[in-house]
Amino acid sequence: MSGIYVHIPFCKHKCTYCDFTSFPNRLGFAEAYMACLYKEIEARGRELEKERFDTVYIGGGTPSVIDPKYILGLMRQIRKCFQLSNEAEVTIELNPGTVDAEKIAIYKSAGINRFSVGLQTANDALLEEIGRIHTAADFVECARLLKGENFSADIMLGLKGQTKEDVKKAIELAANEGASHISMYALTPEDGTPIYTDYLNGELPGPDEVAALYDYGMDILKEHGFMRYEVSNFCKPGFGSRHNYNYWKRGSYIGLGVSASSFFYNKRFTNTFDLDEYMKCILSGYFPVIESEEISEKDAKFEFLMLGLRTVFGVSEQAYKKEFESNWKEDFATAYQKVRPYLEESSDITRIKDEYLYVQNQILTEFLE
Ligand code: SF4
Repeated sequence: MSGIYVHIPFCKHKCTYCDFTSFPNRLGFAEAYMACLYKEIEARGRELEKERFDTVYIGGGTPSVIDPKYILGLMRQIRKCFQLSNEAEVTIELNPGTVDAEKIAIYKSAGINRFSVGLQTANDALLEEIGRIHTAADFVECARLLKGENFSADIMLGLKGQTKEDVKKAIELAANEGASHISMYALTPEDGTPIYTDYLNGELPGPDEVAALYDYGMDILKEHGFMRYEVSNFCKPGFGSRHNYNYWKRGSYIGLGVSASSFFYNKRFTNTFDLDEYMKCILSGYFPVIESEEISEKDAKFEFLMLGLRTVFGVSEQAYKKEFESNWKEDFATAYQKVRPYLEESSDITRIKDEYLYVQNQILTEFLE
């Protein structure tokens, strides 16, 4: 299975925690950018003409901020240039402050069948504090436009002054409005973002407080019928994201657009993060790749373990053997013995015990060594 990721780097306003490649003041470049994207798709399509793709994820940025005609054109171009399966999962990220019924209708006519909505919190004061352009009421309006559709909501933990009640309110809002999937993830204050100053000033909840919010949130999610399938991802039965599964299974994916990363034919490569440079390269007939790395067998083995252990499905000894012709417990014997108390093992599958999944990073670090 292979996936396609497309990056749309425009936003109305920069959120205070945002470290993604997004440009709030350059919406006027959308037309030129999309023309370049269509060219990149054509060129990559020629290169990967024998490959079949099963998922498309249109992320950003805020893909819903640009005129939906470009998304329609984008999907046409993808279908023209790549072999996309008829049952492909096609997701678009939506910011609740930027959608209306007409846009949703156009997305659906473009074959988009999954929507990822950035709620973050249902507390309007917190939404304003972090620079989001929408309110909880905008989310409700967006969710009602998506009634009956497969949609996911993002919820963030670790915001200034955030309480358990806030977390509960956000989850219940998303669940009651029909979300089939919820991503609940902890804020990582990145150096260079405005929220980093709050972090340095000790104004954000500490790791133990965030862990308590997470545990509490998980209980509420369970009550509403969401099962955890990865540390930050929860879904109603049958609604896990196929695009994400592909990443965790070390499946191939092609990234298109500024800053997009790819993993194909055992190589990882990343496009430039500079919008002007991206367009210049494409218009000159080059791929705008700034980093490319062949994955060694040692790194591939580590990735296989790391990605598998992040999920509740764990790592299969058989699958590892099939891929590398060796046994992971022998390849990583020292680390394996060290972290065994945190693992749950059956004859083939090893997974991190439920209660330790949230602190999986500390456990996985052992395998790095
Ligand atoms: S909407 Fe998303 S991509 Fe845009 S600034 Fe906010 S967090 Fe960043």
